[in-house]
Amino acid sequence: MNYKKIVIDAGHGGTDSGAIGNGIIEKELTLKIATYIADRLRGLGADVTLTRDSDETLDPSERVRRVLNAYGNSKDVLVISNHINAGGGDSRCVTKYV
Ligand SMILES: [Zn+2]
Repeated sequence: MNYKKIVIDAGHGGTDSGAIGNGIIEKELTLKIATYIADRLRGLGADVTLTRDSDETLDPSERVRRVLNAYGNSKDVLVISNHINAGGGDSRCVTKYV
């Protein structure tokens, strides 16, 4: 694995539930997935930071601030933002990093 510094962004959170359907709430599933990935990658020796580790509302600028504050803006940092998008083209999941 070439990336040793990884930021995992669990999509949505807090008042932003993301997609809801079939008994699944996106913000809950993205957090479970993010936590699972973080544990696995830490087990492989990577430094991993989550943008959130609880049911917390993050506006886009705070989300980006946390990504950049984790390890800085460097080419050796991998950022993974996970979503489980709704079918039908709902664009609520768009997060832009600058
Ligand atoms: Zn989403």
